[in-house]
This record gives sequence, structure tokens and C-alpha cells, in this order.
Amino acid sequence: MAVSREAPTTIDAAPGPDFDAIVIGAGMSGMYQLHRLRELGMRVRVFEAGTGVGGTWYWNRYPGARFDSESYSYGYSFSKELLEEWNWSEHFAGQPETQAYLNLVADKFDLRRDIQFRSRVTAVHWEEETRHWNVTLQDGGRFRTRFLITAIGPLSAPTLPRIEGVDMFGGQSFHTARWPHETVDLAGKRVAVIGTGATGVQTIQTIAGSVGHLTVFQRTPNWCAPLHNSKIDPETQKQIKSSYPEIFRRCQETFACFIHTPDPRGTFEVSDEEREAFFEKLYAEPGFAIWQGNFRDIVIDRKANAAISDFVARKIRQRVKDPEVAEKLIPRNHGFGTRRVPLETRYYEAYNRDNVELVDITETPIERITPKGIKTSNHDYEFDMIIYATGFDAITGSFDQIDIRGTHGVRLKQKWKGGPQTFLGVLIDGFPNLMMLMGPHTALGNIPRSIEYNVDWVTGLIRHASEAGLTRVEATSAAVTSWTDHVKALGVGLLSNEVNSWMTGINSNVEGKQTRIVARYSGSAPAYRARCDEVASRRYDELELA
Ligand SMILES: Cc1cc2nc3c(=O)[nH]c(=O)nc-3n(C[C@H](O)[C@H](O)[C@H](O)COP(=O)(O)OP(=O)(O)OC[C@H]3O[C@@H](n4cnc5c(N)ncnc54)[C@H](O)[C@@H]3O)c2cc1C
Repeated sequence: MAVSREAPTTIDAAPGPDFDAIVIGAGMSGMYQLHRLRELGMRVRVFEAGTGVGGTWYWNRYPGARFDSESYSYGYSFSKELLEEWNWSEHFAGQPETQAYLNLVADKFDLRRDIQFRSRVTAVHWEEETRHWNVTLQDGGRFRTRFLITAIGPLSAPTLPRIEGVDMFGGQSFHTARWPHETVDLAGKRVAVIGTGATGVQTIQTIAGSVGHLTVFQRTPNWCAPLHNSKIDPETQKQIKSSYPEIFRRCQETFACFIHTPDPRGTFEVSDEEREAFFEKLYAEPGFAIWQGNFRDIVIDRKANAAISDFVARKIRQRVKDPEVAEKLIPRNHGFGTRRVPLETRYYEAYNRDNVELVDITETPIERITPKGIKTSNHDYEFDMIIYATGFDAITGSFDQIDIRGTHGVRLKQKWKGGPQTFLGVLIDGFPNLMMLMGPHTALGNIPRSIEYNVDWVTGLIRHASEAGLTRVEATSAAVTSWTDHVKALGVGLLSNEVNSWMTGINSNVEGKQTRIVARYSGSAPAYRARCDEVASRRYDELELA
């Protein structure tokens, strides 16, 4: 749905709320939402816990942090001028570059003047009589707003492991998503990394060569595939710039907004030789080709999934010299692509180094963190530094950290106890005028593409409210039940829904997150957008508007 960008419309004259809209979070979602709402002539304030813009790319400064989406498919698409001005230096840019890019965006669109940094929102309460939200900050600041938009990130609430003694360690310790702004000296140090998800993999492969000794504590190995990153030469740069419309059109058409799209053939519709050659080809290609561009049935058909898993297992055995270590690095409890596939650059080769050791904590569990290091069931390790690559309380975690209360004082956390319930992943019954960006039940995939769509949709809804003189927008409970049931139905038959992961709401480090839920929309992005467009085209008549 295109949002018209003509004459600004001002919502609600004073006296009234302090702001027409408050946005929580200044990552890619919040930044773009601010830009769009300003075009409506609205009084907007963004509250951001950090000291700068960029969200994910502001916080995740750990060594080797980079995205797995192709750079040119990840950046914003809304401004031709920005696309012209910015040059990605690599096919998969590192964190410093992405952060620099987002700072440029903030400067170019003069976003900072409406963003209040160092401002963590702790409570948001709906007030029915006046139809506004009361927003409270950690420092006690209080503000009133007509519309409240959460842009708090699907992966932004870090979790530490629930191990005794985490506060006891005498050396340096960092969570990867809270990596210091200052340079951290790793040279010659005895370093532990706990966690081997996408972040752990990037950290391990990057620091293995510079630390004195590295001990990796692994609970669940993941199926990793080569990233095949490279610099963008001037000729390719030109080509990218001239094909931006084509790149973004392609992202609009694919299942998950990546430039890759599944092969229409089934795994066993080709000969054994063809299949092997196709897997080889994908393994040699950059990015998520091997996940998003594989045979159409690898994540739904057990035999097909076993075939690609067997192929990647053979690669791991070829690349890791010590057979015992190789076997430990091969996942046993899930198939390829049923959890987020970490992309790597010589990750497996890191384990061929003399200074790198792998500890399987399913065999020798960590008993506690000690003042000097880590004690497992059979060894007392000493370290100078512990790096927690233990990830996030995903999707709902950042919601749980805010006291969100809707009509009749109902708490969102209570409402979502058995799993999120939403309409389109954007609205919730009982929580009027609250809109979520990249919350549960929305299409994620190559996330900036979904961000731009959702922000435009939310902007369209607010514009409609403003033009029609409406001050209350709410999803009906029937719409919420129907969308939630639809999202659950979409997950049936997906092998990924039979696996414990952040995508199924499991986090052993967070109390109460040991039961699988459907937190994620697993249908196609085009289908998601078609449904949202339909709601907008019928002038939002499925919502309660007043
Ligand atoms: C290491 C890493 C790599 C990734 N790689 C990719 C990739 O390759 N491709 C891809 O598509 N996606 C990737 N992602 C997902 C990434 O999160 C999204 O691409 C995107 O950055 C999300 O933007 P956002 O603005 O919605 O959320 P975020 O970037 O998480 O921003 C949320 C902001 O809200 C703020 N906030 C949260 N709660 C509060 C509060 N209560 N008060 C005030 N402020 C608050 C946070 O401080 C943060 O700045 C990656 C994520 C991580 C962690």
C-alpha cells in the first residue's frame, strides 16, 4: 500500500496529549517511523534507551558482527537520493559500516532533534477517558501521547545464562550485545565464549587468531554455511546502483524478502548426481542461497531435510581435522534450516588451530562461574575474559520489560501468557492506539524490507484516523483470534516448529519460556502484505474505529 506524501495533516490540536505519537526505539524501525510521521505534520517523540541511533547496529559491536542479508538488499529503499549517496563497501557489511550508514540516515533526514536518547521506557498505561497513553521513563519522566508505536526490536533484550556465579567472575566479561564502545584488547588473553548461535560463530571465527587461548562452550551446535563475503568493486557498485529497482522488486516477490527464492523442484525430483551438484553449487554461493534458495521441500519434508543435513555434515567433517571435534560440531537435535542458519567465514577451520578448544556442555555441564573462570563437571578453567554469546529473549522479550497496560488495566504480559495474540502482528485488542513494528506475528525475513512495509501501513492507518477525525483505533477480539489462529495454522507441518529455538519462543535462560509458542508468522511476505493491503483498502472496516 502506498502512503500518499502530499500535504501534511496535523492531528489533534492542543490542549491534549504532549505528542500525537510516541515511538519507542530508534533502530531502523523507529527511525523510519519518525520520518514518515513527520510527513503527516505530527508532533512525534522517539524514546531510545541507548545513546545513539541504529538499534541492533548500535548495540552489537562484538568482533566480527555483520549481517547475513546482502548489504544492498538490507538498506532502506525509500529514498532514491540515499541509495545514490551511499556506497556499501562489502556484499555483507560489518557492524561499523552499518552503524555509520544509519548515522548518515539520521543526519540526512534530521532525525535526532526528535529522538530523546538515554531514555528507557518502563511503563505505558492506557487512559480511556482521554484516549491517550501515559508513558513513563526510567528516570521518572512522564509524557502523554495519542498514538504509541513500539519499535523495540525482535532481538534486542539480551539474556545471560542462568548459571550460578555470573556476577562472581574477577576478569572482564561481556555480553556480545552490550560490547563496550572502547576497543577491547584480546591479544594473548585466555578467553571463553559461551554460545554458538549466529553471534557466537561470528565472534569465534574473528577472535580465534588474536587471542592467546580460546575455549568455546557449546550446548547446541548449529548448521552453519559459508558466507562468501567480498569487497564490492567499482564496476559492481555501478551495477548495484543501476539495478536497485530490480533488487527491491525481487525482494518484494520472494517468500522472505531476501534476493534468494526457493527452487521449485523437490529434493527427490532430480537424480542423486544432480542433487549433489546443486547442493555443491549452493554451498559455493554467497549469503542465504543454501537456505532460502534450496529445493522447495527442505524445511517441510523429513527425507529432503535429511539429505541437505547429510550434505552439510559431510562438509563439516571435511573441514574439521579432528574427527571427534567434527562430530561434536554436527547438530543432532535439529535438521538444516530449521533454526536460523549462521553464515560463517572459516568458522570450522578455527577448530583446527592449536589455541582453540571445544567443550560440549551437554557432556560436561557448566556448574558455575568462579572468580577465576568456569567450572564444569570435570574441569576448572581459568580465563582472563568471558564472552557471553547467549543471545536474546527474542520477539516478546523487549515487550516483557515494559509494564504495558491496556483497557481496564489489563497487562499485556498477562494477556500473552500463553503466547502472543495480535491482528496482523501490529494491533492488539484491549490496547487501543498501540501499534507494533517487528513484533510477534508479523512477517520478518530480510527485516528492513518488512520494516518499510509495516511502517508505511501504520502510517496509513494513522493518516486515515487523522483525516477521519478518529481518536481511537483498536483491533476487535474476533480479528485477533482469527489472525492468531491463521498464524498458528501456517506453522503446522514446518519442521522448524518442532524444534526448540528463539523462533518457537524457547529460551532456557528466561523463566517461563520453556514451552513452545507460535511467536512468528511463517507464511510468505507477499501473502502477509496482501492481507494487510486488503484491510487498508476497505478503509480499516475490520477495526473498531471511534
Ligand atoms: C547480530 C545481529 C545480526 C542480524 N543480522 C540480520 C540480517 O542479516 N538480516 C536481517 O534481516 N536481520 C538481521 N538482524 C535482525 C535485526 O534486529 C533487524 O534487521 C533490525 O535491525 C531490527 O530493527 P528494529 O528497529 O526493529 O529493532 P532494533 O534494531 O533492535 O532496535 C530497537 C531499539 O529499541 C530500543 N529499545 C528497546 N526497548 C526499549 C525501551 N523500553 N525504551 C527505550 N528504548 C528501547 C533498543 O535500545 C533499540 O535501540 C540481526 C540482528 C542481530 C542482533
